[in-house]
Amino acid sequence: MAVVHDSQALVLRRVELGEADLIVTLFTLTLGRVSVLARGARRSKKRFAGALEPFFTLQARFEERTRSELFVLIDADVTRPRLGLLSELSRLEVAGRALGWVRKTAPPRTPEPEAFQLMERLLDRLSNGDATLSPERELSEIGLALLASFGWGVDLEHCVRCGKACPETSIGMGDPMSGGLVCRSCGSGRMRIPAARRLRLVRAAQGEQNALLAEDANTALELVERVFAAHAGVE
Ligand SMILES: [Zn+2]
Repeated sequence: MAVVHDSQALVLRRVELGEADLIVTLFTLTLGRVSVLARGARRSKKRFAGALEPFFTLQARFEERTRSELFVLIDADVTRPRLGLLSELSRLEVAGRALGWVRKTAPPRTPEPEAFQLMERLLDRLSNGDATLSPERELSEIGLALLASFGWGVDLEHCVRCGKACPETSIGMGDPMSGGLVCRSCGSGRMRIPAARRLRLVRAAQGEQNALLAEDANTALELVERVFAAHAGVE
């Protein structure tokens, strides 16, 4: 008997296969990143009812086949459409970047429920219509927390070489490729992170909402992008 999985899922990528089918990469709550074959998804609009769109949360059922990495999609229903996200290019762009991080770095078939919830939180915030929202700030905050949830958290409180704690009131010298701060005695990181900003980044990495200010976004995103880049392609 074939094993059928039933999970919430986000669409990470769609690739056309033949005349009618799609290979869809899903980030699922219960199995992590998986690829599913969506038969007939392109031939008929009714098939899967247009559910296979990025930024929507789906409830998807898919079947596992023996000796195959590829699952077969049985059905998919949109449980949260997030249409508000589609109206603004900067929000779409930010959502796409976050989905790209997950697509390139989430290990296959490994449940990452915390990362799944963080992605939902980001997509919900981007679609809520709040005009004062800074998409980059939202992205950087989720990025720091995502790294921590994947076990690649950036240590902004200690030197990653000697373990010495960085005093709360001190500027931290960050080195993303080393995964955190590198103190002066150990050669010093190149990224100068002022004390107050450093503490906000630490709180964001712990998953705290609204920990960052809009002006923290550039520093946070630079850190996040570099750490994700270091992990991408290591499959
Ligand atoms: Zn050190």
